Amino acid sequence: MSIDFSNKKRSTRLAHLGMAVCDEQTILAPVSMPVVRTSTVVFNTVEALHEAEAQKARGERATVYGRYGLCTRNALEDVFCELEGGERCFLAPSGLSAITTAILSLVKHGDHLICSDGVYGPVRIFAQRILHKMGVEVDFVDLTKPEVLLQHIKPNTVGLYLEAPSSLFLRMLDLPALSKLAHEHNLWVMADNCWGSGVAYRPLDLGADISVLAGTKYVNGHSDLLIGAIVLKDETHVQAMNTGHYALGVSVSADDAWLTTRGARTIELRMKQQAQNALEVIAALEQMPEVLTIYHPAYEKDPDHALWKRDATGSNGLMTIELALTPEQMCVFTNSLELFSIGFSWGGYECLIQWVETEAAKNHAFWQDRGQQVARLHIGLESPQDVIADLKQALQKALSV
Ligand SMILES: *Cc1c(COP(=O)(O)O)cnc(C)c1O
Repeated sequence: MSIDFSNKKRSTRLAHLGMAVCDEQTILAPVSMPVVRTSTVVFNTVEALHEAEAQKARGERATVYGRYGLCTRNALEDVFCELEGGERCFLAPSGLSAITTAILSLVKHGDHLICSDGVYGPVRIFAQRILHKMGVEVDFVDLTKPEVLLQHIKPNTVGLYLEAPSSLFLRMLDLPALSKLAHEHNLWVMADNCWGSGVAYRPLDLGADISVLAGTKYVNGHSDLLIGAIVLKDETHVQAMNTGHYALGVSVSADDAWLTTRGARTIELRMKQQAQNALEVIAALEQMPEVLTIYHPAYEKDPDHALWKRDATGSNGLMTIELALTPEQMCVFTNSLELFSIGFSWGGYECLIQWVETEAAKNHAFWQDRGQQVARLHIGLESPQDVIADLKQALQKALSV
């Protein structure tokens, strides 16, 4: 019996995506789809192979070789389309590779891009060391005021790349206004949606043409793999992405795709809980005089809270705080935390801390160096009471040096 999922809610669809198809001979199926690993795909007949090649050449979703995978990877593409509200998805082996593949597929020598200044750090390296060499120039701009975009559009500007909320300070952008202005000037709009992961924020609903994200973060949610996705709103850029994705040799393992589909079944629950835990931790941080600023758009005192309320559909466990500590105290604070591991990334089930170098903070035009320490905290699924107690004891130790 096949169920019509078109009239069902997202939670229902996420629970059922990637279920196994019934074997017609045994009339049985496992609940969850098996992992289908393969290096190549074999065809029954020459005609079948030619038909698949013709479909692929037209930009349709067809498998002619192992790099595209079979049902296991198709299931994950469906998951990303479901989360982001997109038509087509191309998988990549990491979030960063999704970003670079998507941009490389759309630019040519002589093009110019505009990029919001708060984007994920490695995007700057990609622009400065790779795109620059190819003759593609990128301007990093504070787009807090959408109309600023117009001052930076040149005759050769082809696209707008942005991230909201931004990496590090989680600043919101007026994506609907920016998309409108960009489209009036024939630019494509691409958004990094790692923060929202389709649950807390949906760039395609807000005007973007392409959403790129790391399944590494909340979609997989278990800190045990890297994966990325390029999700397209409609057919407009499908051919370009199909060609770029093919020619760059981008591929993901079936095992990682399967694990990510499994993780996605609980993404709504995890993000909701982690968002709630984060607000509980913020309520405690607010009471600590050494905590100067808390950046978290769902926090009502965040400068971008109104924009978050208007555009976001949820939140998560990520926050950045500024502390009135000396570098020595900050080091003791970080080392003394028991529940927070020191490391990059986020979106898993566990607490993480990253002491941020001020050089990275300076990429954000609004940020001012007043000698404060900056830390990014990711609040996991641990009990908020335990997390708060941990932060308090580490701060005590830091203040005693
Ligand atoms: C982590 C992250 C990425 C890159 O994802 P990887 O899978 O680690 O390559 C891109 N953008 C943002 C905002 C991220 O936080």
